[in-house]
Amino acid sequence: MKLSLVVPCYNEAENVAAFEEAVMTAFSGCGYDYEVIYVNDGSRDATLHNLKKLHAAQRCPTKVVSFSRNFGKEAAIYAGMQQAAGEYITLIDADLQQRPEIVRDMVKILDEEPAYDVVAAYQDRRGEGKILSFFKKSFYAIINKLSKVQLQPDASDFRTFRRSVRDSILELTEYHRFSKGIFAWVGYDTKFIPYTACQRHAGTTKWNFWKLVNYAIEGIIGYSTAPLRLATILGGLTAVASLLYLIVVVLQKLIWGIAVPGYASIIVLILLLGGIQLVCIGIIGEYVGRTFEQAKNRPVYIPKEILTYEEK
Ligand code: UDP
Ligand code: MG
Repeated sequence: MKLSLVVPCYNEAENVAAFEEAVMTAFSGCGYDYEVIYVNDGSRDATLHNLKKLHAAQRCPTKVVSFSRNFGKEAAIYAGMQQAAGEYITLIDADLQQRPEIVRDMVKILDEEPAYDVVAAYQDRRGEGKILSFFKKSFYAIINKLSKVQLQPDASDFRTFRRSVRDSILELTEYHRFSKGIFAWVGYDTKFIPYTACQRHAGTTKWNFWKLVNYAIEGIIGYSTAPLRLATILGGLTAVASLLYLIVVVLQKLIWGIAVPGYASIIVLILLLGGIQLVCIGIIGEYVGRTFEQAKNRPVYIPKEILTYEEK
């Protein structure tokens, strides 16, 4: 088997058949074997039903993994990669925003340039608002400054890599999976190629602004301990400032005999210190929470059903 396409599907009932059609068209006459692995990530619509139809037809070798509930795209990718039999593995969305034709180019690059282990697509033109792209830029600037691994701005999960890369990724069994970070962490030589995301074939995106914010926090907490250092520095600065102020107050009282006026300054200080303390506890809590989740050592996903095909 030359190539495994891993396709996470969450509420993509109207897309999966069209996706298969597009794959069949793109790969007709490619001259090598490929399989498609669909992962149904606890969809609430007819996705599983439609995937079973594709599996029964087996127009191309097709596997289906179905989760017991929604575990998220990262878990779906993980499950799909575990099933992959191919020499190359491709991660591609089910909504046809990422064209299968580009996968053929990726395969060609891996064939022709043995120095590269990964070919990743990044979006060259984004049809999104100024505010969102500002936040995204800031996110990459911050995380690349704080973290030891370097993320390529705008790189998507849309990528093709060799089996050795897959094996390395599967060795990372962490519960909080932040795939951008995982790809960067495992390293390997990556070639980035531009692509333009198409419109969704049907259905709606699962992202909104707050999900993106949470995703960004997930990335920063998961790939750097700098926020903890920030808490320490903040605490240190506050302590030094209080010490200086204490000296001032004592001198005022002893030397100049000024009765230090109270109410306003006390309220402000209590609120300020309380705020700083809560923020610092929150930061520590984020890490403790993740340690807790990881300590439970739960599986990344639970498969309810796995449909494979007979190897010829
Ligand atoms: N997806 C998934 N589980 C989720 C959310 C999304 O498997 O919890 C899949 C989804 O079906 C699609 C891909 O991940 O194939 C990308 O999702 P989406 O199109 O919503 O993201 P966008 O393209 O807008 O970044
Ligand atoms: Mg999409």
